[in-house]
Amino acid sequence: MSANRSLTDTDLSLVEKVEYYLEKIDKNDAKIKAFIEVFPHDALARAKALEQKRQQGKKLGKLFGYVFAIKNNICIKGKRTTCSSKMLENYIATYDASVIKRILEEDAIIIGTTNMDEFACGSDCTYSAFFPTRNPVDHERVPGGSSGGSAAAVAADFCDVALGSDTGGSIRCPAAFCDIYGLKPTYGTVSRFGLVDMAMSLDQIGPFAKNLVDLEKVLRVIAFPDPKDNVCNRTIDYSHTSRPKFAMVKEFLEVVDERIKRRFFDLIEKLKARDFIVDEISIPILKYGISIYYLCMCAELSSALQKFDGFKYGYKADINKDLISSVSDARGKAFGKEIKRRILVGTYITMSENKESWYKRSLIARKLIQKEFMRAFSNYDIVLGPTVPVFPWRIGEIISPIQMYQTDILTVSANLAGIPALSLPMRGLELPAGIQLHANICKEGVLLEAARIIDEVTKN
Ligand code: GLN
Repeated sequence: MSANRSLTDTDLSLVEKVEYYLEKIDKNDAKIKAFIEVFPHDALARAKALEQKRQQGKKLGKLFGYVFAIKNNICIKGKRTTCSSKMLENYIATYDASVIKRILEEDAIIIGTTNMDEFACGSDCTYSAFFPTRNPVDHERVPGGSSGGSAAAVAADFCDVALGSDTGGSIRCPAAFCDIYGLKPTYGTVSRFGLVDMAMSLDQIGPFAKNLVDLEKVLRVIAFPDPKDNVCNRTIDYSHTSRPKFAMVKEFLEVVDERIKRRFFDLIEKLKARDFIVDEISIPILKYGISIYYLCMCAELSSALQKFDGFKYGYKADINKDLISSVSDARGKAFGKEIKRRILVGTYITMSENKESWYKRSLIARKLIQKEFMRAFSNYDIVLGPTVPVFPWRIGEIISPIQMYQTDILTVSANLAGIPALSLPMRGLELPAGIQLHANICKEGVLLEAARIIDEVTKN
């Protein structure tokens, strides 16, 4: 089975399909380690029940028989939601996230929960407190992060599709590194209810798939206004123009590996040869995207993680100490190094004496990024470029946290601006890389159509 073919269109019975995936997981996941937990019994029982439903001639859901892997920061009732952290290692969700409820209503099957960087903080899936995940395309390399387990599960053919979350690139980066498709929808179109938040003004759940058809199918099910998430009130426009106008951003291309850049320009030439307009534009403020993102994100993250104090959720504090010592002892033991680093930064920049100079200024800069994108979209339908500036690195090769942060330079702006962005395989290179497309708010229809055009071009 090639990675970009989905089993969704075969005539296997659902039970046979789930068995096929379970065998593959059995054989290969000891090496790749995409999953935190696999649910063989649940998945098979569900496949049987769905088969019965089909035999009874009942109306079938829009995701009938789609086998899903779910990032382990999205709550599934009765299952552990660990966020790949010792803090939540034994935390069992008491309810389904809205997206889980919805995919199950549409007859999906959940095969397991996937590894991630702790609390979604990272770009290579080595910051999991449990184990690193390996890239199915090259086992010595990282799968990207933070939703690396979900991307690896799709790329290794352990499932049809997967869900991840993207706060600064965590769907698009692993999609690019694992040579598959990943989409971060417009902020406010997919409910975050039941997602353990990292930075609530940036987080968005989205799909991974082996092709664009499945990607869109999942999006259409998970995107709906949800009163349980009070900012989830936007509706996606699926209409599109057949000849989108493209723009590439100079500042994005300046930081990219030469081999990726060369291949990207080849593709641009092919687009132009088909009479598409592709102009180069300049958005100087995007150079500061990383600084702006890390300030906004750390401020929100440090506040979001306050609730993990060793009392209410997960890891239990030693109650024989005084309150301050038992809380700090629990947080000291149960949070990993990267999380502590970000909590410290976030707490520092939001202290009342520092707020004006750091946090408030980052919010102003964020507005400017939004404005610049809106200006670009007044002339163009799509802003495109590579997804990550480098190829997937070797496990253990990376690198200082600062170097790791730099690899997010091309993805964070979409979250800061709240716009949708999609990564698709670039193809034709020695290692996986992605092409990233951005569209205006709620213009996922245009985004998907442009992706179909580019997909066609990269295949020829
Ligand atoms: N790599 C980025 C970070 O570490 C993005 C994470 C994400 O999107 N969840 O913050």
